Amino acid sequence: MTETGSRIIVLGAGVCGLAAGMLLRRDGHEVTILERDPEPVPSSPPEAWEHWTRAGVTQFRQPHYLQPRGRIVLEEELPDVLVALEAAGGLRFDPLCLMPPQITDRTPREGDERFKTITARRPVLERVLGGAADAEPGLEIRRGVSVRELLVYPRHGIPHVAGVRTDAGEELHADLIVDAMGRRSQLPRWLEQAGTGPVHEEAEDSSFIYYSRYFRSHDGEMPEYKAALLTALGTFSLLTLPSDNGTWSVTIFTSAGDAPLKRLRDPGVWTALVAACPQHAHWLHGEPISGVLPMGGVTDRYRRFTVDNYPVATGIAPVGDASACTNPSNGRGMSLGLVHVQRLRDVIREHLQDPHRFARAWDAATEAELVAWYRENVEEDRARIGEIEALRNGHEPAPQSDSSTVLRRALLAAAARDPDAFRAFLASRCCLTPLRETFADRELVERILELATDRQRPPLAGPDRAQLLQLLDGFAHLRPTRKSHPKPRIRSSLPGVGGHYSISTAAST
Ligand SMILES: Cc1cc2nc3c(=O)[nH]c(=O)nc-3n(C[C@H](O)[C@H](O)[C@H](O)COP(=O)(O)OP(=O)(O)OC[C@H]3O[C@@H](n4cnc5c(N)ncnc54)[C@H](O)[C@@H]3O)c2cc1C
Repeated sequence: MTETGSRIIVLGAGVCGLAAGMLLRRDGHEVTILERDPEPVPSSPPEAWEHWTRAGVTQFRQPHYLQPRGRIVLEEELPDVLVALEAAGGLRFDPLCLMPPQITDRTPREGDERFKTITARRPVLERVLGGAADAEPGLEIRRGVSVRELLVYPRHGIPHVAGVRTDAGEELHADLIVDAMGRRSQLPRWLEQAGTGPVHEEAEDSSFIYYSRYFRSHDGEMPEYKAALLTALGTFSLLTLPSDNGTWSVTIFTSAGDAPLKRLRDPGVWTALVAACPQHAHWLHGEPISGVLPMGGVTDRYRRFTVDNYPVATGIAPVGDASACTNPSNGRGMSLGLVHVQRLRDVIREHLQDPHRFARAWDAATEAELVAWYRENVEEDRARIGEIEALRNGHEPAPQSDSSTVLRRALLAAAARDPDAFRAFLASRCCLTPLRETFADRELVERILELATDRQRPPLAGPDRAQLLQLLDGFAHLRPTRKSHPKPRIRSSLPGVGGHYSISTAAST
């Protein structure tokens, strides 16, 4: 313990590590952040986008959207970061603009401002956070320092993490170690190597693969939304995310097991498929600023460090992705991580003096803030991947009779017709209200079910499976490859495909 506060070491300078470092420093602690990647924070957004090497964050150049919940945490805790994000070209975005045109009651409701956000490409957002952390008086950030293992000693019969050893052999001691090492954190392995009992871990491959591309506007204007941010279109989904400085991303994602769709690595194939979706084709009207960026192998993982009511070890607090992470279709990771960081600061305020009490309180806070979202995401992923697998094998997806799936689908249908149902749906997408809370409101549930009863599935706003395979067949001469870049062939649409606005399926944002 130091004179002013506690000594805290944060492992990892990603979004959560940087935010944790700043919040804890502003609370008077002596904080050091250790980051494996050596490069300093770039001086400008273009530099960050084009040149910043962040090997420690595999998804660094994948599409990122800051949900309103993340914006709210920044506004409450780090308003200077939000100001700097806007100054760096961050985009103010109000997802209420996604309300389907068939909803005629556009009257604003109390609390509508909670849906607003400011968003940016991940390198731009992290550059702003990193710049603010660098400028934070008294916060030490050591880049190029990789942690290798934990220093663990028994304390009151429980293993206590009292510090870390770096790759260079340096030993650093602290009152608390915060693990912000992301989805690939080695903490459970290090703990076991140090002789603790096993951490509880649940992990499954989400089975999705993402093919994303970034564009920049020719005139600074963002394309108009004719569909939700995320639209499920049979055996694939489309995600269009607005971003900073006139940029946006378009992502096609699908089952990783869908062999014909692996051709989407090719920019020509990728472009042809987006062009075949009438509500999305206009998102191609910009200057491509990346190739097609594939990413698969995204695991849903949840770790619990209190097992049978006992902490596996004290002196350690995993935060953000190191604690729980899911596939990114709902784009919640950074926002939930920021909420988690905010709670960490609160729990440290109350309990840090007593490591055992702290461990229990941190476990309870994590379960309350993070785990409900984790479970919702995994449930939704399984339903969507089940739907994709059925469709690509030529079956109608089996009707789901469990109450949460039924209610989720009903909410989606109701959200296309009713302004309050739309807001309830958006509150879940924006990480504001978990669905289990929404579905605890009986009056709302009755209304949702009533609105959903006679709703027909809207026509598919893109190629059906046969049309999709036909489109891909046109590129059969191309083998899936990591770096073929033939000139994109753009076709405006396929015959027989609908073109109205919709929030049409199980997985729309
Ligand atoms: C494809 C994809 C798209 C995504 N899109 C979105 C989105 O739209 N919106 C959203 O909110 N979230 C999104 N996410 C999730 C988001 O990227 C994560 O939730 C977020 O990065 C978590 O931040 P973190 O600080 O916990 O971990 P990370 O950002 O992963 O940072 C971990 C840091 O720890 C460092 N580190 C690791 N090991 C060591 C070590 N031994 N010693 C020192 N340092 C170490 C790493 O170098 C890294 O800097 C997406 C994720 C993926 C995979």
